[in-house]
Amino acid sequence: MVTIDAERFRDSFETYSAIGATEQGGLHRLALTDADRKARDRFVADLREIGLDVRIDAIGNVFARRDGTNADAAPVLIGSHLDTQPRGGRFDGQLGVLAALETLRTLEEEDIETERPIEIVDWTNEEGSRFQHAMLGSAVFVGELGLETALAMTDADGTRLGDALERIGYDGEHPVRSHDHHAYLELHVEQGPKLAEHGASVGVVDGVFGIRWLEATIHGETDHAGPTPMHARHDAVATAADAVSEINALPNRLSTDAVTTVGRIRAEPDSINVVPDRAEFTIDVRSADDDVVQTAAERVAAELAAACERHRTTYELDTVWETSVTEFAPELREAVGDAAATLDVAHERVVSGAGHDAKYLSRIMPAGMVFVPSVGGTTHNEAEFTEWDDCVAGANVYANAALSLAGDV
Ligand SMILES: [Zn+2]
Repeated sequence: MVTIDAERFRDSFETYSAIGATEQGGLHRLALTDADRKARDRFVADLREIGLDVRIDAIGNVFARRDGTNADAAPVLIGSHLDTQPRGGRFDGQLGVLAALETLRTLEEEDIETERPIEIVDWTNEEGSRFQHAMLGSAVFVGELGLETALAMTDADGTRLGDALERIGYDGEHPVRSHDHHAYLELHVEQGPKLAEHGASVGVVDGVFGIRWLEATIHGETDHAGPTPMHARHDAVATAADAVSEINALPNRLSTDAVTTVGRIRAEPDSINVVPDRAEFTIDVRSADDDVVQTAAERVAAELAAACERHRTTYELDTVWETSVTEFAPELREAVGDAAATLDVAHERVVSGAGHDAKYLSRIMPAGMVFVPSVGGTTHNEAEFTEWDDCVAGANVYANAALSLAGDV
């Protein structure tokens, strides 16, 4: 077993938290901006300081390798992301990168040899905020997204991602994926309230929710807001309002974990004194069970049909994106659970409601995650907070799980 240096871990957390710091105690460090470059530069300098060779790939993912005793063995990959949401928190992503860095520092300091090499990574543009593809660096790494397509993406100002990478000096020369890895392990904040509510310091992550995105369009008829009596209307917004409240009530009737969100809504002709003839809204459906996601989507259609009948309107419903439930590898769940048990850290199994780089990585290698609690579930918010004792407990579980995967010699 190894024990991380909690004080050093805290120091590096404070150092990185100063890069892109906001007045309200959060972080504003959008991908490939000057703040992201400063955080990356600090990361590269820290890796070189412990004697590691750093390599940057063509999409700007930063890697470094600590050799194992068996040069032919596939490395264990550890890490997360340093970019943040606009006025985001200090823990999302950054804590995982720093737990991985602290793991390598601890192994170096204690002269611990592993059979397999261990590689650390900072993934590019995980948040998908500046360039709108979440988990972009890992998506290119696993082949979900083509390199050229990714480099050609533009931000809201029309800046190409490839140009942004070049500007900050992170248009690396290494191929995006040059060799196989044994496994990927990522520490992250839960971003939900369960662990904190249950008093657990660590979550052993079983997998990631299945997600389906739907788009509903309601068709009605325009009329005058004055002379047209209520019973004679075909009001698209009244239909939508009716349907949305039923859609938000669906999860309770389906399962304990299902969630539905209507996050965007638009009406036409968008005029104060016209009965609207068109309403469009999105529905995000998630659950740890793909069958529940399917049932929820069917129930959404049924609620729409019923609301249209009440308001004498019609609807269309399209699936615009979906991803099935991700199950993390049993051997990684076991490594994390064993480390938590050995260290006597209060832990429980959880399923992630949010996507993470580990979700993409699990397509090409065994992947797993360690969660630490998010107080109140607050995230993508400057007030995001994790008790420091839980950060340390999580980092210790993480370091020991990584060590067991790499093979303590
Ligand atoms: Zn994150």
